[in-house]
Amino acid sequence: MEFAFLKLKTKLIVVLGHTECGAVAAAVERPLNPPGHIITLINEIKTAVAKSSYLMGDPVNNAVRQNVIEQVNTLRGLEPVLSRNYEEGKLIIIGAVYDIHTGKIEFLPETLLNLPQIRK
Ligand SMILES: [Zn+2]
Repeated sequence: MEFAFLKLKTKLIVVLGHTECGAVAAAVERPLNPPGHIITLINEIKTAVAKSSYLMGDPVNNAVRQNVIEQVNTLRGLEPVLSRNYEEGKLIIIGAVYDIHTGKIEFLPETLLNLPQIRK
């Protein structure tokens, strides 16, 4: 993504999760001994699972949504390229979830609030 910003002049990064994600489902189910490198994925997602565990509704889709928010925040804070350019309004980083049944994409309001003033 740093390459995309610096070399390809990308101005917008959209973290796009999707409903019924198998990786997120694995993190929600927390298998005792997941095969291969699946544990790496689970570890990346477990914060989102914990933060969304109190919510009503589908636990996987709730975690998908929270994971998008977590990843947006991680990218916004990633030193030095993404964080600096995000804070200076030269790069927009937002999040959305793709619904695999309806084909619709919901942009997450939590990632649209308090965006830095956009500059060219
Ligand atoms: Zn997935």
